[in-house]
This record gives sequence, structure tokens and C-alpha cells, in this order.
Amino acid sequence: MKLHEYQAKALLAGFGVRTLPGEAASTPQEARAAAERLGAELVVVKAQIHAGGRGKGRFVEDVDAGEIAKAAKGEDAAGKGGVRLAWSADEAEAAAAAMLGKTLVTKQTGLEGRQVRTVFVTEGCDIATEFYLSVMLDRSTNRVLFLGSAEGGVDIEETAHDNPDAIFRVEVDSAVGMTDFQARAIGRSLGLTGKTLTKSVGFFRALYEGYMGLDCSMLEINPLVLTKQGELIALDCKMDTDGNALYRHPAVAELRDLHEEEATEIEASEHGLSFIKLDGTIGCMVNGAGLAMATMDIIQFKGASPANFLDVGGGAQQSQVEAAFRIITKDPNVKGILVNIFGGIMKCDVIAQGVIGAVKEVGLQVPLVVRLSGTNADLGKKILAESGLAVIPASNLDEAADKIVAAVQGA
Ligand code: GDP
Ligand code: MN
Repeated sequence: MKLHEYQAKALLAGFGVRTLPGEAASTPQEARAAAERLGAELVVVKAQIHAGGRGKGRFVEDVDAGEIAKAAKGEDAAGKGGVRLAWSADEAEAAAAAMLGKTLVTKQTGLEGRQVRTVFVTEGCDIATEFYLSVMLDRSTNRVLFLGSAEGGVDIEETAHDNPDAIFRVEVDSAVGMTDFQARAIGRSLGLTGKTLTKSVGFFRALYEGYMGLDCSMLEINPLVLTKQGELIALDCKMDTDGNALYRHPAVAELRDLHEEEATEIEASEHGLSFIKLDGTIGCMVNGAGLAMATMDIIQFKGASPANFLDVGGGAQQSQVEAAFRIITKDPNVKGILVNIFGGIMKCDVIAQGVIGAVKEVGLQVPLVVRLSGTNADLGKKILAESGLAVIPASNLDEAADKIVAAVQGA
């Protein structure tokens, strides 16, 4: 589950990571009041969306298509972006008014952008140096990986491409925890020396504790800054936490922002379905995550691409199957649907009834290939055959994939 910058910073501060004080605001008046309470000489007003590159973004309402294309490429926004400095409460209010309710396009949002509903009004600082630092799980070593670069503030992908030697890695064994030695290695790699290096040990250890303690799957501090006063501060923060661990963090679960998620994914989770929207043309309804992956693979192998991942689970009810079908057909990119069921606990006749119920409700505008195998497969096939629906039957996955790809590409 992704978090907003202001939420992530508040959580990390609880682990002792140094951040700057600030408040979230959803109206320009609230932003003004927040700036007044902060009482800082400089405040920064930052659009809160689940995407980075805000500083170099543009607002759809303010600029023409050429400028939006520049925003999507990450070209400098010259004061028009989603991160603005304000030297008074008046300016903070104006900056918030210039962002709230508008649609921000950045390198990470795609051209459609994201609506800004909240801004973070936070104390500014005097930046001496900007660094890049991220924390993630390295699946090949099963260790917590700190990836950093002394060349911060810029796009890490660019650094990785143009100057890969500028990126360093420090791995931490979670059974041992982060040692002072490892923390110092990070600090040294960033070019810190003397007292600043010594002080940085506490910062990196706190970051590690936060990453572990919150069950993060990704944590990115870009930039991590060294101020002119010699302090290390997390100036920006992107955090993604493991959705499967949310039961351990009810307070974090409450921070979920449904506005930032795909409407269809929310609807799917309400019905207990695992659904992830993708950008292909073949909608998939499958039982079991492994079979769903195999189905996506074979579609790709046959030269088309899946419109979604969907696992209806082992013991889905007819109503869930109907919901799944509704969700798939809502996507305008879907040019064909492949139902691939291997009945075990799941009974094929339940799937057949669900498909018929859903088609009666939402109609069927695209070719539908159904492969049923296992428990009650014959009954399921019979139900579909007698339904009068234009279902294309298939007897195995290979044939099913051939048929749906042919149907979609012929269309
Ligand atoms: P992003 O564009 O979404 O990654 O947002 P960031 O929080 O990283 O902000 C973008 C840039 O704005 C940073 O790299 C900084 O250069 C600048 N910035 C953010 N906060 C401050 C601040 O307090 N003082 C100054 N001088 N610059 C800031
Ligand atoms: Mn950033």
C-alpha cells in the first residue's frame, strides 16, 4: 500500500528519522493557517499524490499540451510544478490554491495526471547537498538493500544509465540488524566526513528501523539533504508497505487513500477478488494465482497481452464471479475475455452460472472463450451450451489462448 509523503514522514519520524515539521491541508485557508503555525521564514507547499517528480510536473488546467508533454518527460517546470517555495503565509495560501483540485502531470503519472486533494505545508531548509537513498528487499540475497548515490535530487534512473558507478549498495542481514559499520559505509559512500558522518549513523539506523518496523516494501528518500547547518534531513519520501502485513499495522491501514487507487481494483477488493489492472486487450478470469500467471504468460506468448490479472480464488460464490465479470467488461481496452478455470474446490458449474448471470446483467460485446476443466466441468459446459450465449468453448489452455488471441486479432 502506497502512502503519501506527509504520512510516510510522520511514520518515519516516529522511528527517529529526522524530517521537517509540517501539516497536511485540503484548502488554501488551511494551508495559510498551517504556514502561520509553522512560523518558519520559508515554507514549502507540496502536492500530495502517489507519484514522484512533482517539482517538475505541470497542472493540466494551467498549461498547453506541449507543456504537459514536457512535464511527462520531467523537464524543469520553472515554478509551475507541484513543489513551491513560499516566503509568507500569503504565498503559502496562493501556492495551495494553485494546486488544490487541479490535475498534476509528472514523469510518473502518465499524461492523464492525478488530482491534487491535499497539499503538505512544511518548513523549508537551506540545502547544501542533495543525495539519493532508497531501501528495498533484495530477493536474490534475501537482504535489505540500501541503494544510494551522492548525486541526489536527479533521476536515479538517469544516474543508473549514464553513470552506474555513482550508485552504491549496502546490504543488511535482517537477522543481525544494521550495524554501525554498515551505517558508516552508507555515510562514507555519500561523501560524509567527520562529525556529520558520525551523526549520520543514527539517521541510517532509524531509517532501517522504520523500514522494518512498518513492513515496508520500498522506501525512497530523494532527496536526502545535508543542510548548510550540517544536518541530515529526509526532504522527500516515497513509501510502499507490504499489503499482506497491514493487519499488523491498523493505524497504517487507515492511511489508505482510495482516490489514488484504480476504481476497479477497489471494487474487486470489496468482493474479495485479487485483481490488478494491466494495459492489454484480453480480460482474464482465472481461479488460483499460479494459473492466472500462467494464463497471462500464454496470452503474451501467443502474441497478445492481458488486460488484467484476476484470481477469483478457490471457493468463489456466483456473486463474486458476476462481480469479476462486471469489472473485466468495464475496461474499454478489453477486446476479448478468457475464462480459464481448473475446478478443484471451485466448481465449474458455479463459474458457468456466474458468467451467465453477469452477461445477462451487463451484456456481452466481445468474444468470450471459456475453458473449464476439473470438478463439474461437464455440467458447466452443458449450462453454457444451453444458455444461448455466444461462448467459444475450449478444451485446454493452449487451445483457449489460440482462440481468444485469434478472436481479438480478427476483430
Ligand atoms: P518530487 O519532485 O516529487 O520528487 O518532490 P521533492 O520533495 O523531491 O522536491 C523536489 C525538489 O524541490 C527537491 O529536490 C528540492 O530541490 C526542492 N525542495 C524541496 N523542499 C525544499 C526546501 O525545503 N528548500 C529548498 N530550498 N528546496 C526544496
Ligand atoms: Mn523527490
